[in-house]
Amino acid sequence: MTCLFCKIIDGTIPSTAIYKDDECYAFADIHPQAPVHILIAPRQHIVSLAETDADDRELLGHLLWAATEIAKSKGLSKGYRVAINTGSDGGQTVDHLHVHLLGDRPLGWPPG
Ligand code: 5GP
Ligand code: ZN
Repeated sequence: MTCLFCKIIDGTIPSTAIYKDDECYAFADIHPQAPVHILIAPRQHIVSLAETDADDRELLGHLLWAATEIAKSKGLSKGYRVAINTGSDGGQTVDHLHVHLLGDRPLGWPPG
């Protein structure tokens, strides 16, 4: 098993846990792009959003729900951004599906 995020999820590689349940694991990004920068990854290895199908609808909803719960727990009452970089043009660098939660500063648009 060579996937970086699978190793983080199973604890082989240490991380700062933010939230966990049976479906997902959320941890602090190692190179934060905002004061709050958390990654929410399914425990199941899925390469990217583009690899999901109808069977994954509940899981995808769960990941977004987890993002909202974490945002509340972090007090991001002024807003935040949720992003899923997908594929090379989408800027994805780790091939295990993950949701970025960024907040606690104004975020520009459009992103690069
Ligand atoms: P992507 O570019 O695939 O959307 O996001 C990958 C994210 O994973 C990046 O924001 C990067 O900083 C983060 N990352 C890469 N390696 C590690 C690591 O070993 N630990 C943690 N906590 N985050 C990582
Ligand atoms: Zn993986």
